[in-house]
Amino acid sequence: MKKIRGAVVFLFLIVPWPGQGTAPEKDYPLRPVPFTQVKIRDAFWGPRLETNRRVTLPFAIKKCEETGRVDNFWKAAHRLPGPFLGKRYNDSDVYKVIEGAAYSLSLERDPELEKHLDRWIEAIAAAQEPDGYLYAARSVDPGNPPQGAGPERWSLLESSHELYNAGHLYEAAVAYFQATGKRSLLEVALKNADLLCSVFGPGLRYGYPGHQEVEVGLAKLYRLTGQAKYLDLARYFLEARGQKPFIKRFPEDSPFAIYNQDWYLQAHRPPLGQIEAVGHAVRAMYMFSGMTDVAALSGDERFSRAADRLWENVTGRKSYLTGGVGSRSEGEAFGDDYELPNATAYSETCAAIGSVLWNARLFLLHGQSEYLDVLERTLYNGLLSGVSLSGNLFFYPNPLESDGLTPFNEGAATRQPWFEVACCPTNLSRFLPSLPGYVLAQKDDALYVNLYIQCEATVRIGGQEVGLTIETLYPWRGSVRIKVKPRHPLAFGLNLRLPGWALGRPVSGGLYAYADGIHSRPSVRVNSRPQTLDVAQGFARLRRVWKKGDVVELDLPLSVRRVSARPEVKADAGKVALERGPLVYAFEAADNGGHVLDRTLPDSLDFEAVFEPELLGGVTRLASRPADGQSPLVAVPYYAWSNRGAGEMAVWLPRQKGPRR
Ligand SMILES: [Zn+2]
Repeated sequence: MKKIRGAVVFLFLIVPWPGQGTAPEKDYPLRPVPFTQVKIRDAFWGPRLETNRRVTLPFAIKKCEETGRVDNFWKAAHRLPGPFLGKRYNDSDVYKVIEGAAYSLSLERDPELEKHLDRWIEAIAAAQEPDGYLYAARSVDPGNPPQGAGPERWSLLESSHELYNAGHLYEAAVAYFQATGKRSLLEVALKNADLLCSVFGPGLRYGYPGHQEVEVGLAKLYRLTGQAKYLDLARYFLEARGQKPFIKRFPEDSPFAIYNQDWYLQAHRPPLGQIEAVGHAVRAMYMFSGMTDVAALSGDERFSRAADRLWENVTGRKSYLTGGVGSRSEGEAFGDDYELPNATAYSETCAAIGSVLWNARLFLLHGQSEYLDVLERTLYNGLLSGVSLSGNLFFYPNPLESDGLTPFNEGAATRQPWFEVACCPTNLSRFLPSLPGYVLAQKDDALYVNLYIQCEATVRIGGQEVGLTIETLYPWRGSVRIKVKPRHPLAFGLNLRLPGWALGRPVSGGLYAYADGIHSRPSVRVNSRPQTLDVAQGFARLRRVWKKGDVVELDLPLSVRRVSARPEVKADAGKVALERGPLVYAFEAADNGGHVLDRTLPDSLDFEAVFEPELLGGVTRLASRPADGQSPLVAVPYYAWSNRGAGEMAVWLPRQKGPRR
């Protein structure tokens, strides 16, 4: 049945929406191999994805119901009494959970889950007003909307999240249609999008979302239906932003005063003219993703040039070693260039997810592996840290240092089960099931291996089905075996990503550098024969006539690396951090006698990497070899920190003893 299901999904992906337009003329030059074609069999990711399916998703479903998020729709439909509960953007959590559940259904049938979602979709459809408007916060009691929603439809777009909710609705609707073939949620989404198209645009109402997201949602509707008006509206929202003088709408002492700051929502100037990432980091990441979509789908290079400039700023000056972005808790915002404090790092889980979504798009647009370096760094560190090993405890911010006491995580100094603003848990639950879609990509007859995750995949090259098996214990080991299985001998290119970390470059732009003088190079063998590397755009390119049974071996030398930051990053001055492969390491109290903030990490200290199957779900632990005057220093992967309660933690430690900063 699984196989049939895969075929059905594949059909939906390639057949244009019946009777409505055609597939897009322009698209990303590279295409991801659909996540339904890639079966993860990975020792690292397999258990995490299974935990997401078994724990995180059901937990998010339960929480959406317990907190009234689903009932809000029934109330909006006037089929349940009572007031709207919670935040005006709570609809979006329901949509995100549906999106994640849909990806999960695409991978594995679950009739009970599907029935459950159908009931939710019934509520959503019932809450939609006759003309397509859908915003439970207003429809429950239109004369008395919650604070921030605005007195009338679209009258307070800065803070209402009406369009933000819509974007998540569209993403959920496309995912659910592709997973089940059911049009129920898609019809709701299209009706809502058609309404937006009749309200906003040149010669119509001026406006743009206070929280970006509708742009990427509209791009997905466009790719599914081929209807240009959806792409046009996405482009309009990006072009309208910041075009007219910004109006301060809230009293300065109101809790909404942040919405008086145009930079907070990236409306200080039109996005095409922006050169620095400022303001709320999640909004920024979703906007940059939307700009990249419009660049790819319209071919308008102004959008890609603007996105590229912003990427250089974010990567070169405003990213944590963990890939996290948005260093200030005030406004959940980007700081100034090189403003990257560790203990107060905000680095929201959603911003890390947004960064992965954006960098994946930039890679598909440009074909350069440097975007995948950022993606991988974020995925294995600042994103994965957002969810506990148990799958039901979360981080909203992801700091790089903790004293174990200061409550940095919405009132706690460790992970929490849920948040009133639940964007991060629901975002994780929707992102993780889509992970298989990031492993492989294709351009003409070249296949790109982007991430080294053990899997079995089927791809179509030159009209032929080609099986591909990746075997690896990455990120714990650096050796990768790829078996290529075309039915008949077939000429095509196999492009293997050479991670920046394996080439001595943690990130492009030089914000971080290895500080240890270790030199090693990756090597590639085909059928045991060493290959001279032909490297382009960060990929080792192998082009030949492949036969069934051909084996490619990639060896990425793993060693414990010391990293330092540019001197402009004051917070990391005189300090180093440890990495091994794509993983950033952290020193935790639990492994270091209760304290780490008073420790130093001298250059002379030598580390040994040992895989510990019983520790933190199985991790490679780094322990210093005995040295004079120091008790051993132990580090664990950053993503796994705070799974043993609150305690001191540091990613960066001083190289030498000195006055405490
Ligand atoms: Zn969040």
